[in-house]
Amino acid sequence: MAGQCTRCRRRLSDPMSIKRGMGPVCWAASGGETFEAELEASDEEWARREALLRAGGEIDLGCNWEFDQGEDYPPTTMRVSVRFWNGAFEAYGALVNPADPSMVEVVFLRSDDLRAVYEAAVLAGPHSTARAAWRRRQWARKAHRAA
Ligand SMILES: [Zn+2]
Repeated sequence: MAGQCTRCRRRLSDPMSIKRGMGPVCWAASGGETFEAELEASDEEWARREALLRAGGEIDLGCNWEFDQGEDYPPTTMRVSVRFWNGAFEAYGALVNPADPSMVEVVFLRSDDLRAVYEAAVLAGPHSTARAAWRRRQWARKAHRAA
């Protein structure tokens, strides 16, 4: 199995890097370690999170990540949270000042499996920031060519 780094587009071969979608340097540069340890929680902690979410709470992975809005717009910022919504857990991002007003929220994963959803939320911020970094380099190249 092979993969490609989200941030620099180099090929990946290490299993952990493939799982993260990034090599170690880009993972660190994208804030990948920020919430990774939360996935190592005890069964009691997972039960506490599940009860909190089912009661209508949200768990905010409190950090402003970058969000790539495509080649026509500069990246904006995003906050990532986990919630229980209409009978399933969701990992979602709330965009700050989206270029397209219909894109206020992005759902990364909706599932009955809280651990899978939580992992999607932990990965979403670094992945999004890595894509934005790649986009910024594309923009810089375009500006350089235009000058
Ligand atoms: Zn990379």
